[in-house]
Amino acid sequence: MIGLAKVQAPVQLNEKIEVVFDDVTHEGQGVAKVDSYPLFVPGALQGEKGMIQVTKINKSYGFGKILDIYEESPERMNPPCPLYHECGGCQLQHVSYEGQLKIKEKHVQDCLVRIGKITDAKVLPALGMETPWRYRNKAQVPVGQRNGKLIAGFYKKRSHEIMEMDACIIQQKQTDETIQAVKDICARYRIRPYDEKQHKGILRHIMVRYGRTSGEIMVVLITRTKDLPHKKKIVQEIKARVPGVRSIIQNVNSKRTNVILGEETIVLWGRDVIYDSIGDVQFAISAKSFYQVNPEQTKVLYDKALEYAELKGDETVIDAYCGIGTISLFLAKKAKKVYGVEIVPEAIEDAKKNAELNGITNAEFAAGKAEEVIPEWYQRGVKADVLVVDPPRKGCDPALLETILQMKPKKVVYVSCNPATLARDLRILEDGGYKTTKVQPVDMFPQTGHVEAVAQIVLRGN
Ligand code: SAH
Repeated sequence: MIGLAKVQAPVQLNEKIEVVFDDVTHEGQGVAKVDSYPLFVPGALQGEKGMIQVTKINKSYGFGKILDIYEESPERMNPPCPLYHECGGCQLQHVSYEGQLKIKEKHVQDCLVRIGKITDAKVLPALGMETPWRYRNKAQVPVGQRNGKLIAGFYKKRSHEIMEMDACIIQQKQTDETIQAVKDICARYRIRPYDEKQHKGILRHIMVRYGRTSGEIMVVLITRTKDLPHKKKIVQEIKARVPGVRSIIQNVNSKRTNVILGEETIVLWGRDVIYDSIGDVQFAISAKSFYQVNPEQTKVLYDKALEYAELKGDETVIDAYCGIGTISLFLAKKAKKVYGVEIVPEAIEDAKKNAELNGITNAEFAAGKAEEVIPEWYQRGVKADVLVVDPPRKGCDPALLETILQMKPKKVVYVSCNPATLARDLRILEDGGYKTTKVQPVDMFPQTGHVEAVAQIVLRGN
């Protein structure tokens, strides 16, 4: 309370006020300004008018909740999922799909201008899905217990309370049904759910992966202990109830952590990988490897990366943050040589297998940090004509950007899942002699606030 006296906000806590929303964030919050003081209100849309109540006041911005909307946006939709308001998974189900794509395009544009001070790059309209539902090929659900019964679902918004869930309509049906079957089997064998607070119990998460083109399914049981009672019977039942299952894995994570997967992976039955294809490239995917979750849009994303690389066939390409070699192998068919680097050793094993699987002989992979391995390659005389980066949300390591500026590839193709770090890194490349020519948002995660984009950056004077 004492702190509040210093705050210069033009509104008071709990005050009810009428506002007009003149913006909306990609996380689905409407923005209304009161004397240029922004209030963020979950669920409100641009252009709407209504009554809100102020729920939190910070120094330069505040939060509110909707009491009533008098004038609704034409983009407003009835969210089809009954758990939408409780679950933290989706943020934009109350917005038409067209509206979602516009929000995402604008978010990319805003970040480029605000964070990157890049005003002359062309941001294209976001490429969306024809049917923006049932797209996810991977589900990982936490397991808990309520009234002595095993439950599995997603966490409630901003909490670690598990919601029991029968269906998630952004999951592919096969992933969804497999989760339900495995949950049912584990409940019947009375496998003790993990208790986060006490760090006791056995089953922490159930993870399912589905290969859309192969129909193959991988089930991963993530346990606190190596000991898993009724292991054999559980495996038999999963095989009997999940027709496409080709791999049943146990992953042991004995740490007190939010990280889902632990070090040790044990194959309980079948293979250690499942297969899937993107375009005409086939991939083996293991439990621990990163693989894009929306296979239909992954093709769109990789085609765009390939287009922006503008390969003629005689280029050397480096694919930093290559995962299981997906982009590398897409590019290898059009380049002289591709080098891929990735931090997860299992993913590099997959990448090598994948090159072999597709008869690709001009791709070489190394396990390690991109910011350490690429400078070593450069010292050894490897010089890329085109460098592709596809980093995690925190963006590229500064040491990697520094090496790019020394190596001076003619082109950089930046695949990003976070427009804020994309814009930050583009500024560094621009200051070092590059120019951002075009940026293409691709909607990999419909109904959620996540935004993916591919940017083409070229060396000036070339
Ligand atoms: N291009 C791949 C993977 C992109 S996800 C695809 O489209 O499938 C980003 C990848 O970067 C993950 O596989 C992650 O393990 C890896 N990674 C994270 N930090 C890294 C680092 N410092 N150096 C190399 N790879 C890293």
